[in-house]
Amino acid sequence: MAEFEKLFALANAPYQRNDKRKFIAVFPMWFPYEILLAGGCRVAEWWGYDVPPTLADAHFPTYICTLVKSNFELLLSGRSEVDGAAFPIATCDSIQNSAGLFSHLFPGKFAAYFRMVQNPDSASAADYLRAEVKRLIAEVGAFIGRKIADAELRAAIKTANAFRQAARELLLTLKSGRTSLPAAQIYRALRGALTDVGPSTTKLLGDLTASLKVGPASGPRVMLVGMTAEPLDVLTAIEAAGAHIAGDDLGLGWRTMSVDAAESGDPAEALAQRLLHLPQCSSLHSQKQARGPYVVSRAKEVGANAVIFTRLKFCDPEAFDYPEIKCALDDAKIPNLLLERDLRDQAEGAVTTRVEAFLEQIG
Ligand code: SF4
Repeated sequence: MAEFEKLFALANAPYQRNDKRKFIAVFPMWFPYEILLAGGCRVAEWWGYDVPPTLADAHFPTYICTLVKSNFELLLSGRSEVDGAAFPIATCDSIQNSAGLFSHLFPGKFAAYFRMVQNPDSASAADYLRAEVKRLIAEVGAFIGRKIADAELRAAIKTANAFRQAARELLLTLKSGRTSLPAAQIYRALRGALTDVGPSTTKLLGDLTASLKVGPASGPRVMLVGMTAEPLDVLTAIEAAGAHIAGDDLGLGWRTMSVDAAESGDPAEALAQRLLHLPQCSSLHSQKQARGPYVVSRAKEVGANAVIFTRLKFCDPEAFDYPEIKCALDDAKIPNLLLERDLRDQAEGAVTTRVEAFLEQIG
């Protein structure tokens, strides 16, 4: 077994404790987890799993995305031994509400909330974020029982930057041609790596990239847009229909991996500035650049001539952005297809047929 295959094992068992570090489940997607790393915690960003929401169903309405529900299923089922959970509560209403639910259901566990700024262009955004980052540093310090030093924060920023760099190099192989490993496996590996952000998974991502053979790509070049491309069998269907997945604008993908924090200077300022310079996202409301033109420019950057939206059912942020992005893609004459699924769907005939028909249509 190749070393990098450990990433698939992590993807399959994100809840397993593997050492004595404090184990924190981080909900997606703008939580500055560098602060947890600086406190010596294991950061496990959970992007949802194909588990039946038997216990979580008792606490959520049916019309909530399966990402949140399945994360709670892991917590409630006792499979996970997390010491706490972290919530970027501005991502969406589902995560915001589940943050309160976590404290209610697990009163003995650590709960960290990060209130991400909604409008990064606001004049007060920088001051607000700096203060919020500092508040969180103090809160994590109280949890681990000591003050977190600036040097530890700078080291954690370096660790997270190196992780993101390795993830970007892996994702960029998709742009360069047809990889020896299917795209579904590449995104699965990234999901596995995110369950333990740090030097060991950074190395495994690098090993995986180095092991890939890249050949010429044929067929339409597709870009994926959404929070996540899960369930990943749709990627298999896209490749089986003769298309090439050239890149993404995904939360579990390029969007969260594309921007790093400064490694010198005041670390709280560096973390705040990173968050102010993120790419367009459905959970942010930039006044300067709308997401539609951003997605078009990103499609041009990866050389995509088609876009497939992989939206999770009941994901309101992505649903609100969709009409504007679709109009921008239509205006730019980039064919696009919307697939709406939940994490437990299999690539049943209907989805495969829609993908095949779409790709056939664009040649
Ligand atoms: S997929 Fe959408 S609804 Fe679900 S947690 Fe992410 S942003 Fe929220």
